Amino acid sequence: MTTKDVSVWILGDQLVDAHPALRHAEDLAGRQNVRVVMVESDSRIRRHPYQRKKLVLLLSAMRHYAAELRAQGYEVDYRQAPSMQAGLQEHCRSVETATLVTMAAADHGGRRWQHERLADALGLPVTVVPNTQFLIGRFDPFPESQPGRRYVMEHFYRAMRRRFGLLLDDTGGPEGGRWNLDAENRKPLPKAARPPAPRSFAPDAITLQVMAEVEAAGWGVGAVDGFDLAVTRAQAEAAADDFLARRLPDFGAYEDAMSSASASVYHSLLSPYLNLGLLEPLALARQAEAAYRKGRAPLNSVEGFIRQVVGWREYIAWQYHRLMPDLAAANAWNAHRPLPGWFWDGDTAMNCLRTVIKRALDGGYTHHIERLMVLCNFALLAGLDPAAVNEWFLTAYVDAYEWVVTPNVLGMGLNADGGLIATKPYLASGSYIDRMSDYCDGCRFQPKQRLGPEACPFTTLYWNFLIAHEAELRSHPRFGPAVLGLSRLAPAEREAIRAEAAGMLSLMSC
Ligand code: FAD
Ligand code: SF4
Repeated sequence: MTTKDVSVWILGDQLVDAHPALRHAEDLAGRQNVRVVMVESDSRIRRHPYQRKKLVLLLSAMRHYAAELRAQGYEVDYRQAPSMQAGLQEHCRSVETATLVTMAAADHGGRRWQHERLADALGLPVTVVPNTQFLIGRFDPFPESQPGRRYVMEHFYRAMRRRFGLLLDDTGGPEGGRWNLDAENRKPLPKAARPPAPRSFAPDAITLQVMAEVEAAGWGVGAVDGFDLAVTRAQAEAAADDFLARRLPDFGAYEDAMSSASASVYHSLLSPYLNLGLLEPLALARQAEAAYRKGRAPLNSVEGFIRQVVGWREYIAWQYHRLMPDLAAANAWNAHRPLPGWFWDGDTAMNCLRTVIKRALDGGYTHHIERLMVLCNFALLAGLDPAAVNEWFLTAYVDAYEWVVTPNVLGMGLNADGGLIATKPYLASGSYIDRMSDYCDGCRFQPKQRLGPEACPFTTLYWNFLIAHEAELRSHPRFGPAVLGLSRLAPAEREAIRAEAAGMLSLMSC
């Protein structure tokens, strides 16, 4: 090819370094014959009433990425269009393009569209190169996976550690003799602890412009005010360095702790950047390992962090592609209660839920245990409709994308997939929240009470759930012991719990 006739379409959540579609196009036609196209699609932006801080992050990061490509000498056609298809069609009409190269989308629908319909829509040959944002693009621990079969995250994780040589000793076994130090990740936060805040970044001119546009569009939840996330690779790397130096050492011990004083506790707050391609998961895991090797962070922290990044994150993406599209409609517990209205403003007397929901709606972030053991735990106990819960998570968070939300919410959080992703339903009463947080101190309910005006809804609904699903849970290999407590309940008390729970749930539906 001798004319500038290859277009490379770079998606907004694929802001990776050394983009493989660009590399492919350059090999095909030479760098001087390659043109980049990026599209801000109005219909995509309005698919859900997204978190406004997420819209600012995504659009600002895209515009910065385009500016960096231009600075490297690329011609970039950056467009705003009613839809992705319309934007690409306008691009193809306005320039001479013989072929389009793109990287496989992270989400199922987008990937199918690229493979099955894009070439016809553009009237051009389209090459879709493999996605490099995940390690599963390079290595599949279970290449012959069977539909309907259960796969365990722990086996997946060990295979990833072995394949990528992460945190291994000289014999090829796990550093320190154990693969998983989860038991050392469960301390509550001491009252006096003040974890260092994550690195923040003042908005520059591009970000301020995007903030004004998102504000003016009047679309989404939360506010643009207070936006302080990284929007370039250099900033995301600075945020990662800050985490590794200041919070990684305590990440392990307090991984499950929740606090009204700090949303992030010692967590990394790096998911928004990993999910946009501004950080690369293997490089990040290797940096964490280097901190351990240099004696800057203990093994329980480093192993815990690597387990999240190359274990859970990759496993979730792997399960998503294996189980979609059926996963999106899963509802194994047959739950149909609508989402209470207070999910959209946090106006509830339950202090834990009030704190976490307001945090999510205002800032777009809560850490993992709050997503799992407060929000999803409540949704599962209260029988909330899984699709509505999934929609809420897609909307509220700055790091939300379908590939990560749907398996986490429907699989891990609500066990709506019948246990294909997580080996047991994550259920807990108010006592767990009391042990792992300071929320119960400021609540009008009592975490240990399951009956009466001060009964904690988590505790009442927990026992109600055990009673309602006793037979299924009793036969569950990992849940049996929790159900044993039911044998201590007299029939009259069971009835009282049922009645209390029914009253709470009917009030919630009003
Ligand atoms: P850290 O605790 O510092 O962990 C480090 C990294 O590990 C994270 O940045 C993330 O990239 C990865 N990670 C850890 N656990 C998971 C997991 N279960 N799935 C995928 N990646 C993981 N993650 C998202 O990126 N976007 C979401 O929208 C999202 N929604 C979730 C909804 C529910 C119901 C649950 C249970 C989990 C969800 N997660 C989601 C996973 C996890 O909660 C977040 O990745 C994590 O809280 C992000 O905060 P952090 O960067 O401080 O994480
Ligand atoms: Fe949440 Fe119950 Fe504790 Fe109140 S008492 S904060 S509702 S767990």
